[in-house]
Amino acid sequence: MGTGARTDVEELLAALAADPGREALVFGERRLTAGGIADAVHRLAHTLDDRVGPGDVVALLAGNSPEALVARYAVNLLGAGITQPHEGLSAAAQARIVDDVDAVLVLADAAQAEQAEAVLTHAAPVQVLGLGTLPGRTDVLAAAEHASTAPITGRARLSDVEQIRHTGGTTGHPKGITYTFGHHVRAAAMRRSMGSFGTDTAGESGPPRMLVATPVAHAGGALGDRMLAGGGTVVLLERFDAGAWLAAVERERITHTMLLPPLLYRVLDHPGLDRTDLSSLRTLFYGGAPANPRRIAEAHRRIGPVLLQFYGQTEAGGVSVLTPADHTRPELLGTVGRVVPSTEIAITGPDGARAGTGVRGELWVRTGAEMDGYWKQPELTAETIVDGWVRTGDVAWLDDDGYLHLVDRVKDMVIVVGGHVYTSELEDTLMEHPGVRQAAVFGVPDGDGTEVVHAAVVAGSPAPTCDELGGLVADRAGAMYVPRSISFVAELPLTGIGKTDKKRLRAELTA
Ligand code: AMP
Repeated sequence: MGTGARTDVEELLAALAADPGREALVFGERRLTAGGIADAVHRLAHTLDDRVGPGDVVALLAGNSPEALVARYAVNLLGAGITQPHEGLSAAAQARIVDDVDAVLVLADAAQAEQAEAVLTHAAPVQVLGLGTLPGRTDVLAAAEHASTAPITGRARLSDVEQIRHTGGTTGHPKGITYTFGHHVRAAAMRRSMGSFGTDTAGESGPPRMLVATPVAHAGGALGDRMLAGGGTVVLLERFDAGAWLAAVERERITHTMLLPPLLYRVLDHPGLDRTDLSSLRTLFYGGAPANPRRIAEAHRRIGPVLLQFYGQTEAGGVSVLTPADHTRPELLGTVGRVVPSTEIAITGPDGARAGTGVRGELWVRTGAEMDGYWKQPELTAETIVDGWVRTGDVAWLDDDGYLHLVDRVKDMVIVVGGHVYTSELEDTLMEHPGVRQAAVFGVPDGDGTEVVHAAVVAGSPAPTCDELGGLVADRAGAMYVPRSISFVAELPLTGIGKTDKKRLRAELTA
């Protein structure tokens, strides 16, 4: 890049080249050195060089694999952007994303061959290459095998698109959260002030080793990149499974890892937890969805003083952190911690004016690391970002000690006759019952413009009865909050990135 600033992929490749012999990536039985990854990136970049360049967008149909990481790095090195639709989306929704970004090329992972073909039947005609053997497609990895490993200088300009991350996409126009290469430079202060999550510190046991068990298309990928760029090792799981996660932490002497709260609960509920040696863990970050104070206290007790909660948003950047020390004070576990120094917040009260402490309202944040905008949606972008302030769509309040409390997503709030119900608050109330391991609260339209509250509960033993839970809610919050129905389920459905899938719960109930 001619500006003096390096793109993140250039920084990452420089870090890999600095210590080529170190173990950088572990995937099942495969162990890749830093030099091996850097060579693979350059080989693939040479092979794709005449097909993609600055201003282009490439769609990557791949789950978690070394090849998916190498492909993203190679495409970004050539100055082109990447979109990697979440695996959990239907083929039709993924195809809409491929079309929406005007992809010049699709790179489809061999492990996802069937899904990729289904996507391509829905999408407009586009050039497709296989990352591995894909029936009827050129295998670009085979073609790259004999390519040069001579380092390529990054082609990107700061204003070129680096990544487009899609949220939802099941209906309507997919929302593509767009980052340019310049975002990485802009976001440096925010990254520093989030404390790099402690990933850049070598401990007594040597460089950090991070377990990435969530999709690299979401926050897991950014954390993994940072770990590789910081000299650590990434252990990558194809997908989250509590048993596999526990085994990997013990076997690979993992020091850092990230889970969304619903995944952390699955770890807590796994029979192998208390038999697993987790003593290598230095930091377990969690965030991305509401965390229940009782279950976090349980995690602190059973896993150790290693928990660090972050609150942020793909659109907005990092907002606040609840530190490991904060986790020793049970009264703070219902908060999302303190706002980090590089971020400013403002809460707008019901009258639209800025609210003081203790007052609930919609949270706006200014992080300096906000997205560059929604892909091809200037109006939505202008509604969401005003003078660098991002409207989060989260309802929050700040207490007198500077701790931030999140109440709910505005769009998850259930409008009932007589008021509204904050779903995550009601979930915490249900989870006050010792027999409730997990709870999900959601609204279903009743046809009169209001909604009715329902809950799905994962029960422990002894399991509570519906009456007990209804009584608990009436007692704590009032009759208006008592769910119309409570269903007991073995597991809550999760989205591809590990959040509770309330859309699916609603659809299952109305079906
Ligand atoms: P995403 O962009 O997928 O990371 O989702 C961001 C949204 O997830 C936020 O706007 C919040 O609603 C929610 N979220 C993220 N972190 C937390 C957290 N620590 N506690 C509660 N909700 C969170």
